[in-house]
Amino acid sequence: MSRLLIIGCGGVAQVAIRKCCQNSEVFTEIMIASRTKSKCDDLKAKLEGKTSTKIETAKVDADNVEELKELINAYKPDAVLNVALPYQDLTIMDACLVCGVDYIDTANYECEDTEDPKWRAIYEKRCKELGFTAYFDYSWQWAYQEKFKEAGLTAILGSGFDPGVTSVYSAYALKHYFDEIHTIDILDCNGGDHGYPFATNFNPEINLREVSANGSYWTDGHWVETKPMEWRAQYNFDQVGEKDMYLLHHEEIESLAKNIPGIKRIRFFMTFGQSYLTHMKCLEDVGMLRTDPIMVDGKEIVPIQVLKELLPDPASLGPRTVGKTNIGCIFTGVKDGKEKSIYIYNVCDHQECYKEVESQAISYTTGVPAMIGAMMVVKGLWKKPGVFNLEEMDPDPYMEALNKFGLPWQVVENPVPVDCYKTEDES
Ligand code: NDP
Repeated sequence: MSRLLIIGCGGVAQVAIRKCCQNSEVFTEIMIASRTKSKCDDLKAKLEGKTSTKIETAKVDADNVEELKELINAYKPDAVLNVALPYQDLTIMDACLVCGVDYIDTANYECEDTEDPKWRAIYEKRCKELGFTAYFDYSWQWAYQEKFKEAGLTAILGSGFDPGVTSVYSAYALKHYFDEIHTIDILDCNGGDHGYPFATNFNPEINLREVSANGSYWTDGHWVETKPMEWRAQYNFDQVGEKDMYLLHHEEIESLAKNIPGIKRIRFFMTFGQSYLTHMKCLEDVGMLRTDPIMVDGKEIVPIQVLKELLPDPASLGPRTVGKTNIGCIFTGVKDGKEKSIYIYNVCDHQECYKEVESQAISYTTGVPAMIGAMMVVKGLWKKPGVFNLEEMDPDPYMEALNKFGLPWQVVENPVPVDCYKTEDES
């Protein structure tokens, strides 16, 4: 029924590809294209004979719009699923526009070299105007709104778990449980253990940049920025148990603040163990998280890229990770004049994921929604001209697909609220 071009063949992409192959009725043909073609070929070899989806592979440098255009024009897909890195979002969107193809991704645009003076000038202006200093924001991709609208094309931004499923949970809560949502707390808990003293569950560069940055939350129409790991809370997660979690900046806060009418506060919390935090702080203090080039023996190197090479490949964590993830949103608001509160969440087991798709739950919980986002578009269920975040679309078919494709969710009424405190007040 459809042809999908998938760009990237890393941890998340490999799950999305396997899920497309489990859904051959929708994805009759796919092309896996990435920087390292051998990874695409290896995966194709593993899947062929086990799926009726016809798989092709190609090499592409997704930083290069001309190469992308050539590939898209040759393959003629119905849509492009970008599961490479956030650095490539704009080049892939540009190529989709020129070639007349719909676009889906899982993370908003980030600039690879944060010392680039042209990018930095725009970034610093945005920090002052909006009040948060994260390196990523939606302005770059929202700027494509008119272009996609005029071209009659759909771009779906952020179809991973968070953002993605959390955005759809928000739309679903608003549609079925509330007249108005007042607060959203997004709780991302990974109760998994991979046995290494330090490793990241997805791309180390993207992950460490996100976690070492200032936190922020949205309240009464403006951003409040916090220091990294300044706010902490304990929460007792279903099927995982009690965990420490910290307030972070996260990209869906920006779009939910714009798209959920009447919202008063949005916060995002992620669980971290002490070993992870101690390692990260040490790496940051010695400069290993720097993203700008330094000279070593006359050669330019980027410290965080060296670190990425030293750390375990996130894709290799699958066989050794045990435990569960629990990710969801606590909503408060009003229905029929009465205050109410609900919690929508999914619990995912690392080893179950590995048995099914040879991957740990972090890649699984992102790769499954990436496939579902692409399915919504190619089936025409989410086909509107323009650039959209997931909470702007009808949540019902996506929620149904989550149950069908391995990420079942549940709704709990009157959950325990999050009670957080400043880490400096602990002593
Ligand atoms: P990986 O590093 O495992 O994979 C990235 C893939 O992109 C690799 O195959 C890499 O190729 C390829 N790639 C990188 N640069 C280029 C390029 N210039 N041209 C072509 N291909 C390229 O990352 P993950 O799979 O962990 O993450 C993928 C995406 O998912 C990221 O954008 C990440 O931010 C997002 N994400 C979203 C989440 C959510 O919940 N919304 C959660 C987790 C991740 P090579 O093999 O050569 O390195």
